[in-house]
Amino acid sequence: MGRVLIIGCGGVASVAIHKCCQNSEVFEEIMIASRTKSKCDVLAEKLSGGKTKIQTAQVNADNKDEVIALIKQFQPDLVMNIALPYQDLTIMDACLACKVNYMDTANYEPEDIEDPKWREIYDKRCKEEGFSAYFDYSWQWAYKKKFEEAGITALLGSGFDPGVTQAYCAYALKHEFDEIDTIDILDCNGGDHGYPFATNFNPEINLREVSAPGSYWENGHWVEIPAMSIKRDYDFEQVGKKDMYLLHHEEIESLAKNIPGVKRIRFFMTFGQSYLDHMRCLENVGMLSTTPILYEGKEIVPIQFLKALLPDPASLGPRTKGKTNIGCIFTGKKDGKEKKYYLYNICDHQECYKEVGSQAISYTTGVPAMIGAMMLLTGVWKKPGVYTVEEFDPDPYMEALNKWGLPWKESFDPVLVE
Ligand code: NDP
Repeated sequence: MGRVLIIGCGGVASVAIHKCCQNSEVFEEIMIASRTKSKCDVLAEKLSGGKTKIQTAQVNADNKDEVIALIKQFQPDLVMNIALPYQDLTIMDACLACKVNYMDTANYEPEDIEDPKWREIYDKRCKEEGFSAYFDYSWQWAYKKKFEEAGITALLGSGFDPGVTQAYCAYALKHEFDEIDTIDILDCNGGDHGYPFATNFNPEINLREVSAPGSYWENGHWVEIPAMSIKRDYDFEQVGKKDMYLLHHEEIESLAKNIPGVKRIRFFMTFGQSYLDHMRCLENVGMLSTTPILYEGKEIVPIQFLKALLPDPASLGPRTKGKTNIGCIFTGKKDGKEKKYYLYNICDHQECYKEVGSQAISYTTGVPAMIGAMMLLTGVWKKPGVYTVEEFDPDPYMEALNKWGLPWKESFDPVLVE
């Protein structure tokens, strides 16, 4: 049915590529292009026995012209950006220049947060909007009109969270509620990789996210809190009781706009004490900084150096045991009555490893990346412009989750988070 250019070949991309190859009727031809071509070649070789035709290429996606040249050469129907959020805008620019559909798994954030031009816009946004995460949707929403005019679609954030969590919200609104009052997104990783400290996905992105102030949406505005200062515990099905902390998370921003009348949206992620102790220590000594320092005449960026020391997230697969449990708890009204509802997925690290050679964090992101791409390629989701997952009909996406490895469960009497 279609040709897809996939940019990036890390943990998440590897799962998405496996899944595209399982779905060869839709993904007839793919090109895997990344900064390090050898990784693409290894994966292409591994998957070469299937029906999907695979090519590989080297690309630096920070350079718009390189991406344009590759699009012109391969002529894809869609570009899947599964590199890093730093490349979102250059890849969107290239898609616009070539009039090709675009999708990604995380919203834009700049690599250099000290860039004065970016900083000025960021400072203004912090003041006006009231949250201080380095990432936000404004950069990509700014492409809306241009994508509409070009007649192409950009689907933003089709991973698990963001991504599936927004499909859950759209589904709850369509089928279970007349009005949603509150949404609590709970992201629990009950997996154990046996290392004293490692991150489950790109360490730079992961550590930036969890060391930043938390925030939530309440009564029409953001409430910002110091990092890790709101803690709750929750008893997760098939995982058990875990501590979880309120974080800022990107889908809150789009859900606040797209779920009419919603009064509060919060996001909680589970962390063990050891993870937090390591992180605090690394932060206190400056290892999470993105500002380059001079070391013996050479410039190094502390968090990038740390990344080089930490286990490669892709290597955690064979070691990680346990389950993830991610979902949304809703309260609201149906037919004039108060109602609560919980939609969630439980995913087993070892099962994922058996199927595609990755742990559940990459799996729970890579599967919805493939599904988002499938929605666009098949034309099931089709409207020119720039959209997040909850802006489309959730039913075909929810059906695909059941089919492609992330079946959802529901509870009509969940314990609520205080
Ligand atoms: P990895 O670091 O494992 O992989 C990133 C890949 O992008 C690598 O192959 C890397 O190449 C490549 N890359 C980086 N910079 C460039 C560049 N300039 N040009 C071309 N290729 C480049 O990250 P993950 O797989 O863990 O994460 C991928 C994305 O998924 C991220 O945006 C992350 O934020 C997002 N994510 C989303 C989640 C969700 O639920 N929505 C959850 C988890 C992650 P090289 O091998 O050379 O380094």
